[in-house]
Amino acid sequence: MTYSVKEIYFTLQGEGAQTGRPAVFLRFAGCNLWSGREQDRWRAVCRFCDTQFVGTDGPGGGKFETAGELADAVHSLWPNSQSTVRPYVVCTGGEPLLQLDTAAIDALHELDFEVGVETNGTLLAPAGLDWICVSPKAGAAVVQRRGNELKLVYPQTEPEAQPEHFAGMAFEHHFLQPLDDANSERNLRQTIDYCLREPRWRLSLQTHKMIGID
Ligand code: SF4
Repeated sequence: MTYSVKEIYFTLQGEGAQTGRPAVFLRFAGCNLWSGREQDRWRAVCRFCDTQFVGTDGPGGGKFETAGELADAVHSLWPNSQSTVRPYVVCTGGEPLLQLDTAAIDALHELDFEVGVETNGTLLAPAGLDWICVSPKAGAAVVQRRGNELKLVYPQTEPEAQPEHFAGMAFEHHFLQPLDDANSERNLRQTIDYCLREPRWRLSLQTHKMIGID
């Protein structure tokens, strides 16, 4: 298959359980919950997206004809150090599970990468992933109900986006991440208060925004 990729870059993971970890970010183009065009935002299922995922014109982006070419492009960005730390790639988007398949996962594993995914949870993840982070969106049913990390933007008004709604799902870590909008200070306070009331949930901050990296 041909993989459409918005961008590939090396950075630190900014959010959630892997915060601070060096990682290659592989951002697939396209999402099933929003077209990515501003004129469509009001009618999208997911309306608070802060990510550019349309097209293939970002740094390292493009069309990759094979899983091997895609994996080579990811590998080229991992530093050539003496470290024995296993390289890590975060497959994100857009919605990465529209394109990420076992061929791509296998090709990345052949280059010794640990393969993580950040998904909205509306599609089942293929086998072989090493880390699954689901970030549910109100109005979109979650079918990927197990994984390593559940990361929920908070607060949201819809009943299906309340933290209690996810109690029966099988995740190791539960994170609430303050909604980054015009009320971000209030949202942070409410998120802290919820975590203090329900200690199963931990606070996730978007540290990459605080320190000014992508
Ligand atoms: S699901 Fe994720 S990538 Fe898609 S529109 Fe929402 S926040 Fe953006």
